[in-house]
Amino acid sequence: MITGDQYRERIAKLRPNVYQRGKLVDRFDSTIQGGIDVMAKTYDFAADPDYNGVGVATSHITGEKINRFTHIHQSMEDLLNKQKMTRLYCQEVGGCIQRCMGADGLNALSIASYDADQKYGTFYYKNFIEMMKRIQAEDLTLVCAQTDVKGNRPWRPGKQQDPDLYLRVVEKRPDGIIVNGAKAHNSCSVYADEIVVLPTRNMASDEKDWAVAFVIPADWEGITIVNGAFSPPPRKKLEAPYSKLGISHSLTIFDHVFIPWERVLLCGETEPAGKAALFFALYHRHSYCGCKAALSEIFTGATALAAEYNGIDKAQHVRHQLAEMIQIVDLIYAAGIAAAVNAVKAASGTFIPDTNYCNAGRMLAGEAIYGEYEALAAIAGGLAATLPHEEDFYHEKLKPYLDKYIMRNPAVSAEDQHRAFRLFQDMMSSVWGGHKLIDALHGGGSPVIEKVAIYRDHNIEHSKNLAKKLAGIAIDGSTKGIFRTLYSWY
Ligand SMILES: Cc1cc2nc3c(=O)[nH]c(=O)nc-3n(C[C@H](O)[C@H](O)[C@H](O)COP(=O)(O)OP(=O)(O)OC[C@H]3O[C@@H](n4cnc5c(N)ncnc54)[C@H](O)[C@@H]3O)c2cc1C
Repeated sequence: MITGDQYRERIAKLRPNVYQRGKLVDRFDSTIQGGIDVMAKTYDFAADPDYNGVGVATSHITGEKINRFTHIHQSMEDLLNKQKMTRLYCQEVGGCIQRCMGADGLNALSIASYDADQKYGTFYYKNFIEMMKRIQAEDLTLVCAQTDVKGNRPWRPGKQQDPDLYLRVVEKRPDGIIVNGAKAHNSCSVYADEIVVLPTRNMASDEKDWAVAFVIPADWEGITIVNGAFSPPPRKKLEAPYSKLGISHSLTIFDHVFIPWERVLLCGETEPAGKAALFFALYHRHSYCGCKAALSEIFTGATALAAEYNGIDKAQHVRHQLAEMIQIVDLIYAAGIAAAVNAVKAASGTFIPDTNYCNAGRMLAGEAIYGEYEALAAIAGGLAATLPHEEDFYHEKLKPYLDKYIMRNPAVSAEDQHRAFRLFQDMMSSVWGGHKLIDALHGGGSPVIEKVAIYRDHNIEHSKNLAKKLAGIAIDGSTKGIFRTLYSWY
């Protein structure tokens, strides 16, 4: 395992292929730095005794100790530890820990590449294992580029006016394949070592060109990253950990990119391609049950702080509001635990968390976020939007006025009042706050997609049979058990 500084040194050596605001930029551009600092923490936390080894796993391939973000889950305990690690790390940094996408993509491909080899006699799982040895030994940071730009939404890949609107194979050669297309919303690609690329959706038998998966360095020839970097507003004097956060998302363009066969994990096998898409989403929603529990807890804490500083923390409506928020935190986290406890083992040996619990936890988190913003905004009051600029609090003439008129609960100093409301403003009334709101809704899949998965996997006929039996209507089959359609695969 390496340190955060060693990770930074490696990222600094990547070929420049990142564009931002019309310019080719350095990966260590000040606007990107906040995200790199968060990612570096995933290395340092693994060695931090305070975390009691939750971020360290044992490789099932080499038997070596590895960073859990490079691990393929081999047990229920692995899934529980992954979720716990995600929550603890997110609580500590105050936001997304950013390294789960690559791990989730690799776990999905461990299953899909293995199943492809069993069905088609291909060589992908061998590629996968060789790749994993390198990823684990070098402690690489990977991200996942799943989401295609998708063009006209109801049209399938082959029906789009431009077939590149879903990334596809345009040529097969003896030494590899050529792919063309672009992946949207690709988080942290700018400071990743390598990118895991897999399909957005299941593919029909005539969509072989789009059934492709591979892992490739982020600075590989032909890859262009059009990046958007986001951070809370920078501070002039009132330094705070929250203002040092950052994250990047890119449109990652693959312009006729050559992928050597040893890096290819699927190419034309439509059924396993669908599994890769589905399982990445599933693993990622399981990760969300850890990170969103942390983010919801931070919102709950901020709301409680606003109430205390406004002197209204004993009001009954405030306590009811906080109880509802705590309940959301616990239900999201509980869904992840339930998903791990009810995991099944795929043929590859990888453990798959329960689909409906993952989707239910992620859907709840995505929909609850608007209520969390509303609760904090309601209890903090309008100052979260209209707080005077930071410089005014340090202006010779204005400071005494602002320190005097910001006072609410007399037990809290003017500076702490200022600090708290600056945090609330950053969280809700800033470009960063708006961006996080949409991130929480769509990242990992929009709630509507989780509804589709929940309905698909629940087996509604079983539920109807329960009702029919109680009504005395004849039923076909047994009402005993809890059903998951998906697990008929394993
Ligand atoms: C901050 C952020 C970070 C992200 N990071 C990553 C990442 O690292 N890697 C990655 O792969 N993805 C990432 N995503 C992508 C995320 O998974 C998608 O945003 C999500 O799946 C929704 O896709 P979309 O944004 O293309 O929206 P759309 O697919 O355009 O969906 C918008 C709405 O359109 C409707 N809709 C869509 N298709 C249909 C249809 N066929 N029929 C009827 N209605 C339809 C639905 O109501 C949906 O809610 C990220 C997203 C965000 C916001």
